[in-house]
Amino acid sequence: MISFNRLDLLHNEVKIKSEILDAVERSITKSEFILGTEVQKFENNFSVLSGVKYGIGIDNGLNAISIGINALGLNPGDEIIVQANTYIATILGVVRNHLKPVLVEPDYTYNIDPLKIEEKITSKTKAVLITHLYGQASNMDAISVITKRHGLYLMEDCAQAHFSTWKGKVIGSFGVLSFFSFYPSKPLGALGDAGLILTDNEQLRDKIISLRNYGKVDKYNHKVIGFNARLDEVQAAILNVKLNYFNLHNSYRTNIAIRYLNEIRNEFISLPLLNDHATHVWHLFVVRVEKREMFLNYLRENKIGFEIHYPIPPHLDEALNFLGHRSGDFPLTEKFSNQVVSLPLYYGMTESDVNTVIYKLNEYIGV
Ligand SMILES: *Cc1c(COP(=O)(O)O)cnc(C)c1O
Repeated sequence: MISFNRLDLLHNEVKIKSEILDAVERSITKSEFILGTEVQKFENNFSVLSGVKYGIGIDNGLNAISIGINALGLNPGDEIIVQANTYIATILGVVRNHLKPVLVEPDYTYNIDPLKIEEKITSKTKAVLITHLYGQASNMDAISVITKRHGLYLMEDCAQAHFSTWKGKVIGSFGVLSFFSFYPSKPLGALGDAGLILTDNEQLRDKIISLRNYGKVDKYNHKVIGFNARLDEVQAAILNVKLNYFNLHNSYRTNIAIRYLNEIRNEFISLPLLNDHATHVWHLFVVRVEKREMFLNYLRENKIGFEIHYPIPPHLDEALNFLGHRSGDFPLTEKFSNQVVSLPLYYGMTESDVNTVIYKLNEYIGV
């Protein structure tokens, strides 16, 4: 069986494992478990690498989105534009704040279609929250022109695309706020839940620092209704180690992706479409097939692992029924959701497994 993903291979090599264990041991020795020096160090490391002034560690990606949006102080009923085919957490971060997500179709790169944003802007629109889906940077030129022209906040959901770039500039540095998840399987993953917000804006930074910690302004004074959404010191210590391995892990995945792109040749399988100005960090290698059930059975027969990201588009998911959408509202999103399949691609995947995936996919006959 070829697994879809193997997180164990990321942390079991002697060097990284001993560095992670040392980091945890240092935390125990110091016994500084909440908002200590490792969190500060990670916030600093991550923001410097992203070219953004401030990083604020948060306990997970969804809370990063929710708290970041909360800090903008929008009014209930205000609208935020998001792409229709994103992971549901992007949209949950909007609705958690009693704001209305206004969905926009993606293009064939699976990122938001910049040509379809303006028709959705109303007098209530306050922000555009894009997702760099599957690991590829979105078209930040086209999107920034629109948010500037209409005076909207630009925000980035970077949960799947750590350090991917648009025209050489790292994602997370375009928006007024950018949100990261370090869920274990993300391109940069903790050993548990973790997240972060980036911003260049000092007022937003101060608000977010307060919001993640009960709304505190000093030890016993609370100015706003806050959350407990602090990034754990131990997870930050582990992330400081894993940050040093990001390039190694990313280039390993990229080499597999390049082989798939060059060597999978099958008229029944559509490969990912890359934008010339964007880089892709290959959180997921997503292909499309017309007869998906038949293709999935073929993968099962050949013992090739797969996942679907995502089988139910958010607008048809039960939790979001109240938005009042129905089947047919977002045809491209629905088509993608019926056709996408994510192939095995992970750090440590053997050459022979990569060869098998390529060979078997080239043999597939989709009729
Ligand atoms: C994973 C993910 C999130 C949520 O992150 P968590 O850390 O799991 O809360 C948000 N948006 C996108 C696009 C994601 O992939």
